[in-house]
Amino acid sequence: MTEKTLFQKIMDREEPGDILYEDDRCVALRDINPQAPSHVLVVPRKPIPTLDALTEEDEPLVGHLFLVAQKVAAEEGLTDGYRAVFNNGSDAQQTVAHIHLHLIGGRRMSWPPG
Ligand code: 5GP
Repeated sequence: MTEKTLFQKIMDREEPGDILYEDDRCVALRDINPQAPSHVLVVPRKPIPTLDALTEEDEPLVGHLFLVAQKVAAEEGLTDGYRAVFNNGSDAQQTVAHIHLHLIGGRRMSWPPG
């Protein structure tokens, strides 16, 4: 069996994590190093390593992650907007090889991203 990812360990309560929401397909938890007043990671239970590993079977799952992000954003009071992004691969500085949607909000952001 392959080793669990960090996020799987948090989902399985083997590592601490501030979990805001969970269902049978995903978990939303606060980022340990928040980049804004609200920074939540929406992570599928399925340990897909990168966006490049997605298959057609994952299409509804990815849509679900965005709908959960929408719910969490409302609960976080992000009425003025938010960013919902995936860092993918080394150029984007993905550091955890288990895809996760970053929901970032609560401050005015700049564009382009650094
Ligand atoms: P990435 O760089 O892969 O797009 O995002 C990984 C995110 O996971 C980073 O924003 C980082 O702060 C967060 N992170 C790393 N270790 C932990 C941890 O142990 N707990 C939580 N909640 N977040 C973590």
